[in-house]
Amino acid sequence: MDHLWAPWRIKYILSNKGEDCIFCVKSSPKENRKRLILYRSEYSLIMLNRFPYNSGHLMVAPLKHTGNLEKLTAEELGDLSVLLRKTVSLLRKAMDPQGFNIGMNIGQVAGAGVTDHLHFHVVPRWIGDTNFMPVASETIVVPESLEKTFEKLSSLLEKMDRRG
Ligand SMILES: [Zn+2]
Repeated sequence: MDHLWAPWRIKYILSNKGEDCIFCVKSSPKENRKRLILYRSEYSLIMLNRFPYNSGHLMVAPLKHTGNLEKLTAEELGDLSVLLRKTVSLLRKAMDPQGFNIGMNIGQVAGAGVTDHLHFHVVPRWIGDTNFMPVASETIVVPESLEKTFEKLSSLLEKMDRRG
């Protein structure tokens, strides 16, 4: 697997210490926008990563606050898988990527930024997308702003849901 070099991610790791869990959020629409939550199902949610590896970097997490995969019930895992599928489908429609990296880091040693709340990373990939990543600078090269991506993806999700 190709690794995208993302030096700004250190800010994410440093800024997250001692704060409330980013995945445990109240269910108000206003809060959704603020926390970049795109979608919420019975047991899981889809969220934009504020410090993306690439444009359209989303996260899919269970609502249950746990860092332990074995603590999820079959129902919760099933729901999580359905949302993963929805996320891939959404990104395909919105951004036409050529591939995806999907993964879960469990534990700090494995690279988890948030260790006590499980989450999948879904990163859309395009040929050559590592070429323009900043290697020596702190500049974030993400072609679209987070707000713009949020608007685009949430309206697309609404359309997908209406179609069933
Ligand atoms: Zn949590």
